[in-house]
Amino acid sequence: MGGATMTDTRPVNLILLGPPGAGKGTQARMLEEKFGLIQLSTGDLLRAAVAAGTEAGKAAKAVMEAGQLVSDEIVLAILKDRMGEGDVAKGVILDGFPRTQAQAEALDALMAEAGQQIDSVISLAVDDEAMVTRVAGRFTCGDCGEGYHDSFKQTAKAGVCDKCGSTEMKRRADDNAETVRSRLEAYHAQTAPLIAYYERQGCLSEIDAMAAIKAVEADLEGIVRRALG
Ligand code: AMP
Repeated sequence: MGGATMTDTRPVNLILLGPPGAGKGTQARMLEEKFGLIQLSTGDLLRAAVAAGTEAGKAAKAVMEAGQLVSDEIVLAILKDRMGEGDVAKGVILDGFPRTQAQAEALDALMAEAGQQIDSVISLAVDDEAMVTRVAGRFTCGDCGEGYHDSFKQTAKAGVCDKCGSTEMKRRADDNAETVRSRLEAYHAQTAPLIAYYERQGCLSEIDAMAAIKAVEADLEGIVRRALG
């Protein structure tokens, strides 16, 4: 890459919009590494709350396992907490947030309060049916978070992370075919309307996320570089 980092430029805030399996997490990790932006995944924050057994986590657990959306109230409280930490001032890649109109409006207000804005919203366009296969076979390294897939991206040595050598592989409780279908329904009913919301704001781009990971990566990099000006 050309060496653009967020240390010498203004913060850039991005949203990755797309159904489960579109590659939001994978691409957010790439952007985090390349541009020094902070990946902010409400799914990760909620899973951490469930694991820690907090009140929010207890309320969210069954909803997440059913593939439905956690209440705006809980998600916004968790997001605001995270946004209050200093590192996000470098700019964020929102992955899995916002998912409802109310969340999008609350985010606009939060950004305005902080004197910032959403620079770019990237919609990852995919075919639903392919998402069921993509999500149902995926797993991650429990230590470094590297993502793998039973068919599309296996580890070089069975059960061992290529990146850090850990043997702690994890599969999400909601990454099964049945729950993925509920998550896709929730996406179309509650989240896809945000595409038009951001189109009206003039900050939406769409990319073909059925393409190979590297091609999607290149498209995204182009958008981020333009946002960086
Ligand atoms: P994800 O890791 O983004 O696929 O999210 C996993 C699950 O967490 C979703 O299926 C929802 O149950 C919940 N979740 C994550 N982010 C949100 C959000 N912004 N609003 C509501 N529920 C969410």
